[in-house]
Amino acid sequence: TTKFSKLEAEALDPIIATMARYAADPNPNKMDVSIGVYKAADGSSFMFPSVKMAKEIYNKVEPGHNYTTMSGLPEFIPVAQQTVFGDKIAGEGKLATIQTISGTGSLHMAMLILRSAGYTNFAVGTPAWSNYIPMAQHIGCTTSTYKYYDEETKTIDFESVVCAIEEASPKTVFILQTCCHNPTGADLSKNQWKTIRDLTINKDCMVLFDIAYQGFASGDKDEDAWPIRYFYEAGMEFVVCQSFSKNLGLYGERAGALHVVVQDKDSLPIVHSNMVKNFREECSFGPAYGARIVSTVGSTPEIKKVWDQDVAGVAERMVTMRRRILDTLTKLETPGKWDHVIRQTGLFWFSGLTKEQTERMISEYHIYLTQNGRVNVAGLNDANLDQFCKALDAVVR
Ligand code: PMP
Repeated sequence: TTKFSKLEAEALDPIIATMARYAADPNPNKMDVSIGVYKAADGSSFMFPSVKMAKEIYNKVEPGHNYTTMSGLPEFIPVAQQTVFGDKIAGEGKLATIQTISGTGSLHMAMLILRSAGYTNFAVGTPAWSNYIPMAQHIGCTTSTYKYYDEETKTIDFESVVCAIEEASPKTVFILQTCCHNPTGADLSKNQWKTIRDLTINKDCMVLFDIAYQGFASGDKDEDAWPIRYFYEAGMEFVVCQSFSKNLGLYGERAGALHVVVQDKDSLPIVHSNMVKNFREECSFGPAYGARIVSTVGSTPEIKKVWDQDVAGVAERMVTMRRRILDTLTKLETPGKWDHVIRQTGLFWFSGLTKEQTERMISEYHIYLTQNGRVNVAGLNDANLDQFCKALDAVVR
């Protein structure tokens, strides 16, 4: 007997289940293109050269192990702000920012502050990162969904997005991914962002920008953050959930930030104090190590330049892999249309493989993608790309 008999077993997250299956597969040619982690051209997990440089400095400084503050490592905050908003906006004093437990922690803190402000319904375009809805429901908020991506055309169903905004109930929060959409790789165009801004600017709603892959779409972090800066310029209030997991490869360090744009100078410290209170009651202090690396990278001009190059290199490699997939499938005369692989951006290609085809990729060809047919293109390289394309060709015939 146990005092915990009220609890029922919870299923593993599907991606963790896929990873476990991959780990248990004895086939020497198995291939992992599932979880969203960038891998280098030789298949190894990638340490950003800029991070390596920052760690060398950090090791010499010996910062000790004291607590940070309840809003995070002080020197991390301006770097996080400048990365998303650029130096000019970051200096204007309209951002309430705290350090968070990476992007997930930022989303959680965003949901809490929005709930306190009365925004209790979260609208999610589907398919989406699988944690949004459970996270909102976890804190007692409601959720609504609308279609984001059209399987037929393999592009955004923008009419559906517009309709969702027009018909939303008051106090709805639209969670919008700024770039490198997970899982579809289909990003809103500048014109579409303009329409969304026009639709939301005078509406009793909130926009939440989730920016987990800044720089991985265009190769330029500033360009990828364009929608956020564009909304800011219109004098809007909104929130931004930022992660350094991907664009500095700091997955395990949990470095991220929540930014709330507050236009009223007197209200800003009030909002900030609530963010700090929420963080204190759950985590007390922000973790130091990852934040130190980020702040060293961002505040050391020569390392910052290397970071820019790192990100550009990552984006370029993914574009190259996408091109090669299309070329190889064309050569194989694989039935179907595959040009969406080069239209989509970032780590993920939403291949359109069915559940059955995906299962065959795994069980017959030992290629592990997520159940919805999402492929991490960074898992591909010169050594395994042909094997991947031949398997895909076989399962769609
Ligand atoms: N948002 C999106 C769209 C993501 O894909 C992820 C990670 N897969 C996150 C947020 C959160 O990532 P993390 O907590 O590692 O920063």
